[in-house]
Amino acid sequence: MKNLLFPACACMAILVSMIAPLPAAPASPVITVKSFGLLPDGRQTHLFTLENASGFRADISDLGGIVVNLFVPDKSGKLADVSLGFDNAAQYLAKSPYFGALIGRYGNRIAHGRFTLDGQTYSLATNNSPGDIPCALHGGLVGLDKVIWQARPAIMDGNPALILRYVSRDGEEGYPGELAVDVTYTVTPKNELRIDYQATTTKATPVNLTNHTYFNLKGEGEGTILDHVLMMRASRTTPVNAGLIPTGEIVPVKGTPLDFTSPHRIGERVDASDEQLKFGGGYDHNWVLDSQDGKLALAATVHEPTSGRFMEVLTTEPGLQFYGGNFLDGTLTGKSGKKYPYRSGFCLETQHYPDSPNQPGFPSTILRPGETLRSTTIYRFSTK
Ligand code: BGC
Repeated sequence: MKNLLFPACACMAILVSMIAPLPAAPASPVITVKSFGLLPDGRQTHLFTLENASGFRADISDLGGIVVNLFVPDKSGKLADVSLGFDNAAQYLAKSPYFGALIGRYGNRIAHGRFTLDGQTYSLATNNSPGDIPCALHGGLVGLDKVIWQARPAIMDGNPALILRYVSRDGEEGYPGELAVDVTYTVTPKNELRIDYQATTTKATPVNLTNHTYFNLKGEGEGTILDHVLMMRASRTTPVNAGLIPTGEIVPVKGTPLDFTSPHRIGERVDASDEQLKFGGGYDHNWVLDSQDGKLALAATVHEPTSGRFMEVLTTEPGLQFYGGNFLDGTLTGKSGKKYPYRSGFCLETQHYPDSPNQPGFPSTILRPGETLRSTTIYRFSTK
């Protein structure tokens, strides 16, 4: 980490201003901060803008580390906001289906909200019940998506960055150990939004961190994502039961509607008669990435033909949850006043597999004292 421009005291000054250009960086990167509104309990939230020289821009809140806006050029250079969301923090707390947020301590589901670790059984809130089968989802009642993170803007290697830190107390949401989580968002000149995760713990604990941005590469509020063309470098998946909990098997996708090893329109097979699609109400599954060595590798690409926008997802993680917005039902109105209909956003959540704490055959998600979890994901945008 280089060129930290904003020491803690400067940061406080930054945080009280409504819209203030931060102390000038040596080169072109710009970071600004403004209010993102008060929470019902009176706490102030902020929105930080990270922008590169060509106008590619991410607006990120200290509430939940939420990617609120993501402005990406189309093939004619016109910018559109490709991430679904709201225009103030209170709305996120009131009704967000995790739009744009950092997810933890454990992304996706833990069966029955229970796991046993080193001989001790832990109980978590069951805040979700697909198929009427209760489970713990996305870190609990107040997961990392709903807390205010300490936020520190910085210039790293010449790029605008936001360094976020949250220390989750021992026992928070039922998880053992004090968990210190550091997430750094960086905007690069290659129109990338890079997310670096790091975590340490005082007691053994399961951790699975991800980001839950809902993308629509036509622009948020511009209809469904069914014509987007998806490819995933994943020839296997972890099938689920009716409660969207993995059965523990790892099976090939070949010959099924979950096969995206070559590009397919998302809508092409989404309603095919298939038990997995029936359980998910469409796509809502974890794919086992072909790259399993922990090195940064291409996991997926998405192309939206009318705008030409093309997104590549690179990650060090072994899994990818592709969720096709099946629970969006048209009742939410987004930041630009447009409704978000059924399947009008998709998530590509880089992660470890769901319910790993109860699945001995899956890569371990247990972090122990003395270890440091490190994980990187890049969303890279271009056109074609
Ligand atoms: C899950 C969905 C869930 C959604 C919440 C996704 O990560 O896979 O099942 O409904 O998050 O918005």
